[in-house]
Amino acid sequence: MKILRDLSELDEYVPGRGVEEVAREHGLDPDELAKLASNENPLGPPPAVEEAVREAAPTVNVYPTALHEDVRGEVAEAVGAPVENVVLGAGADGVFDTVGRAVLEDGDGVLTPSPGFSYYGMSARNLGGYESSYGLRTDDGGFGYDAGRIVDAYDGEKIVYITAPNNPTGTDTTVETVERVADEVDGLVFVDEAYHEFSDRESAVPLALERDDVAVARTFSKAYGLAGLRVGYGVLPDGMASAYRKVVTPFCVGGVSLRAASAALGDDGHVTETVELARWGREYMTENLDAPTYDTAANFVLVDVSPCDASEVAGELERRGVIVRDTTSFGLPECIRVSVGTREETRRAVREINDVYADARGESG
Ligand SMILES: *Cc1c(COP(=O)(O)O)cnc(C)c1O
Repeated sequence: MKILRDLSELDEYVPGRGVEEVAREHGLDPDELAKLASNENPLGPPPAVEEAVREAAPTVNVYPTALHEDVRGEVAEAVGAPVENVVLGAGADGVFDTVGRAVLEDGDGVLTPSPGFSYYGMSARNLGGYESSYGLRTDDGGFGYDAGRIVDAYDGEKIVYITAPNNPTGTDTTVETVERVADEVDGLVFVDEAYHEFSDRESAVPLALERDDVAVARTFSKAYGLAGLRVGYGVLPDGMASAYRKVVTPFCVGGVSLRAASAALGDDGHVTETVELARWGREYMTENLDAPTYDTAANFVLVDVSPCDASEVAGELERRGVIVRDTTSFGLPECIRVSVGTREETRRAVREINDVYADARGESG
């Protein structure tokens, strides 16, 4: 009996490179590395979270039943949604998976932005579905959301993903665009607001509460600094949250993570500081990088290093201790994505990128 199903069409997720692996490969001191490849919080977790995690240690022998419901309530209050509409997941990625289980049947599709986040398609394929994409490239060479283009690309997919702001481009969109798409397509419009805290734009959460065909996902991984604990949440239309509970993995978020999320919600100051740092950093990079950058509403900047090869530029930066994301796997072999670091890390990254870019351009003629 052939036990594995046919996985020939599936790929592994490509994460940003980690500090330990880069340090080992190049014989560098991990403490000297600036990791700007995964859009993590450069300030670390909120101080209250470290304490909450320590306090949670003696309770890890019990299932987090009541805790899960408590944190759901706290999230609901924080986003201004009824608790019935809020669900938790193992990161926003866990929310995509679980909503996918409730929505997708064999052969159903998801429509995703290109360039965009690879996990939407992976998650759909894992469930026997397929991915097709709509382009974000505009005629002037930038990236932008256009409701008409999304609607034109739509061909009966069950879920249409809109990432606001988008990864890796930093492009944001408006609630009006989301609404126009939802009016025109049949499926669920799933707005991924993983980077929403960094943007000035309005959230799509009110739409998810008004309509039956818009959902929103958010995460504690970025602005809240809890990427290592895997906590995300969704605001789903009426009725969908009960479907979610039928298909979700039991206790999908651990107790330590739940206590950490609760502590993080109680520390607005840390988020504010993180967002201010991101705004400073994206402006600093935009102004001081010699290579062209794209407008961004998130905590990272997409940099066009053509005619140089992005994988070579990223490789050389790595040898110098600055880890950035080569966006070849996003379909952008001419770009690198640089997360905002601490002020010191961001300044160092700009110096090194300018240096490597000048050298590489000299060599390529
Ligand atoms: C980081 C990220 C996520 C969420 O990650 P989790 O850690 O699973 O919450 C979701 N969408 C995009 C576009 C991201 O960049």
